[in-house]
Amino acid sequence: MTEVLEEESLPVPFATSTLGEYGNMLPIGILTEDGQLHKEFTFRELNWDEEDEIDRIRNSKKGPGDHPARLVTSVLAHMLSQWGGNSRFHTAPLDSRIRAIETAFMEDVLYAWVAFRIQELDPVYTVTIKECVSCEREYNWTTDLNDLEVKVAQSVPEHHVFKLSREISHGPSEVDRVSIGCPRWNGVTSIDYNARKKGFATIKRGILMGAIHHVFDHRTPETVHALSPSIRRRIRKVDMERMTAIPDSGLFPRADMTFHMSCPHCQASLETSLDWTWDFFFGSASLSSTATS
Ligand SMILES: [Zn+2]
Repeated sequence: MTEVLEEESLPVPFATSTLGEYGNMLPIGILTEDGQLHKEFTFRELNWDEEDEIDRIRNSKKGPGDHPARLVTSVLAHMLSQWGGNSRFHTAPLDSRIRAIETAFMEDVLYAWVAFRIQELDPVYTVTIKECVSCEREYNWTTDLNDLEVKVAQSVPEHHVFKLSREISHGPSEVDRVSIGCPRWNGVTSIDYNARKKGFATIKRGILMGAIHHVFDHRTPETVHALSPSIRRRIRKVDMERMTAIPDSGLFPRADMTFHMSCPHCQASLETSLDWTWDFFFGSASLSSTATS
């Protein structure tokens, strides 16, 4: 199950595999204080009772509401029995389970989410393209989620240190550098879901926030500081734009949630991203659409 398909020729320790090959192992893993990555995860069974519970979580006052990423956090926190090698994960208090998912790497959370769908429902994923970009006809496109390509870390991914174009002074802090690593899931859950239609910039900025692991204050170079909201708000646009390119640069493992397909009528190619919202991914429509394809 842990076989890795081929080595990458990049100067970073990750390899390419598929979800079907890699199985119930996190592509990056949970880093513990001893410097080890822990990768195993398992789910409890999704049944009628659990689905009722998920509905209750969705509609609870302090719940994730309609935010698709926060719902992923809540469902995983509820359904995982083991996470990152912690076989007693399900016995931990809910808020610490939520925190564990929030601070996990984005790639790992999305990977586990797709693995959960395969385990509980089906590996078959069908999208209906309402209108081909070329011939304007409708078609269904089906793939096996086990074929999803993943980048697998073989050791702890390194950080990239970015020097800000101008220092940020705030109270006693004078921040001059920022450490960027694999994006964490809390960047995605921090995105203002209602603002998502404003475009890609909102999503990219959210991912960047999850990728900034800490900041450096040049007066206390030995100390690692967390990114505070007040420092975050003062990052210059020029630095933000430059930093946004780093998580995309191929330096870190990233879940590629896009599919390449072609129209069966005219062969025009199309790229579309995985729709991992609960309603589409686990709702009744996710199976009925396969039945009609
Ligand atoms: Zn077409």
